[in-house]
Formats: sequence, C-alpha cells, structure tokens
Amino acid sequence: MIVKKPYAIVELFNTAKDVDVLRLKAIDDATLSFDPGMFVMLIYKDPASGAEISRAFSLASSPDSKTLDFIIAMIHGQFTSKLDVAKPGDVLYVSGPHGQFKFDANKDKKVLFLAGGTGLAPFISMLRLIREKNLQIDVNLIYSIKHPDEIILKEELESYVKDLGMKMTITVTRDDGAESWTGEKGHIDANMISRHAPDFLERGAYICGPLNFVKAMKDALVSIKYPADKISADVWGH
Ligand SMILES: Cc1cc2nc3c(=O)[nH]c(=O)nc-3n(C[C@H](O)[C@H](O)[C@H](O)COP(=O)(O)OP(=O)(O)OC[C@H]3O[C@@H](n4cnc5c(N)ncnc54)[C@H](O)[C@@H]3O)c2cc1C
Repeated sequence: MIVKKPYAIVELFNTAKDVDVLRLKAIDDATLSFDPGMFVMLIYKDPASGAEISRAFSLASSPDSKTLDFIIAMIHGQFTSKLDVAKPGDVLYVSGPHGQFKFDANKDKKVLFLAGGTGLAPFISMLRLIREKNLQIDVNLIYSIKHPDEIILKEELESYVKDLGMKMTITVTRDDGAESWTGEKGHIDANMISRHAPDFLERGAYICGPLNFVKAMKDALVSIKYPADKISADVWGH
C-alpha cells in the first residue's frame, strides 16, 4: 500500500520566470528521511470529487530541514495549474521518497553538476547539505537555461560561489532577450565542459534535467572519455 501523508503549503513564491518554490510542512510535524537527489510524488486531491493528480518532484530541501522545498516549472499542466491557485494552508499529499539518483558525500570529494533548467532542484538539495554539514566537497556547476531571467534561486547560488568556493557557469541557450548577457552562451557540450571543468575526469558527474538534456550530457561526457559507469543521472521524462 502506498503511504500518503498530508502536508500543508507553507509558502509558494516565484524565484525565476515561470518557476516557483513550493515549501511544505508535514501536518504531524514529522520530518522525511531522504538523500539529496531523491524525489517524492506530490498528490493533489480534488476536495469535491476526491480525484487525485500525482506527479514526481525532486526534493530541493536539505534532508535536515523541517520543511520540504520543491522547484517547480509552472507550465499550467494538470498538476501545476492547481498550484497556480494554491495558497498557504492548502493541503497536498506526499508519498516517498523514491529514486536511485543520490549524492554520496563519502564517494565524491570533487563533483561536476550538470543542470538543465528546473533540473537544478536536486543540486540545491545537495548544496544545502554540503553547506549545513560543512562537507569539504569541491563543486563545479554548469547550469543551462534558455533566457537570463530563468536563473533559479540566484542569490543562493551566488552564496555557494562565495561561501563554498563553488565554480559556477551559467549558459544561456537562446539569443532573444540575452542581448545584455555577458556570460556563457549556447548548449552545454564537450567543449564547454572541458573549458569550465578541465579536471572533469577527477570529478563524479551528476546530471539532472529533461530527457534530451540528460542524453546530450551523457554523450558529451563519453565523447571526452569520461567513464559512462561513473555518471549519475536523473531524467524527468519530458
Ligand atoms: C523523477 C522526476 C522528478 C521531477 N522533478 C521535477 C521538479 O523538481 N520540478 C519540476 O518542475 N518538474 C519535475 N518533474 C516533472 C513533473 O513530474 C511533471 O511532469 C511536471 O510538473 C508537469 O506536470 P503537469 O501535470 O503540470 O503537466 P501535464 O498536464 O502532465 O503536462 C502538460 C503538457 O506540458 C508538457 N510539459 C511537461 N513539462 C513541460 C515543461 N517543463 N516545459 C514545457 N512543456 C512541458 C507535457 O508534455 C504535456 O504536453 C519531475 C519528473 C520526474 C519523473
């Protein structure tokens, strides 16, 4: 039997263009035990009919947090349109955690995070854990977005650069609206990885994002002789 626990919405706020942070707290105040990288099923229950809509979302909070954070692309689909009108106090149900995509701080002291869009979510969980536990992990993040206004949790990301010495490259893939963008441009490829993470062979590689992104990242890494069996990836299936 699938266990579904009720959680109340604590906050729902915009963090970037069409991306919201959803913060939930268990009604019984219990915390959820999970490893950064894992996901849960969020379930919306229609108050009138009892019909349920269930979708997978990566946990963005640290495992020690009293609340669960999610980074959600507000695409006005079946589930996300319910969030368009949600408010603090509303109840969602959570089942999980699930998934094999996990960050192992004992295994990798140097990591390469490759994030596509809202695929940044599990890396936020990992970075929060690294900071809270003062883990000595050398992080190199390469993060792809379409437009400059899509940078999720910008200040928090910059704080990891400042406080943890994280190396961060943000690349913008579309030209429209990027006229004043002075940073990296174009899709992440083998060349970009080699330039921004020349020591990539020494790093544990983690990838998260839509299917096409994950496939392109795996191909890019393998083309520069990165061992395929050292790649950890989470695919969002669209
Ligand atoms: C393991 C896992 C983890 C996930 N983690 C996250 C997460 O942390 N954050 C997050 O936002 N999503 C995440 N997703 C995706 C999420 O589960 C839903 O698929 C997504 O929120 C859309 O659900 P929906 O009901 O609103 O849209 P639906 O009604 O299911 O889809 C509406 C339409 O929009 C299309 N569509 C779906 N996603 C997008 C998109 N991003 N851009 C444009 N069109 C799209 C669909 O193909 C469909 O045609 C994850 C998925 C998996 C499998």
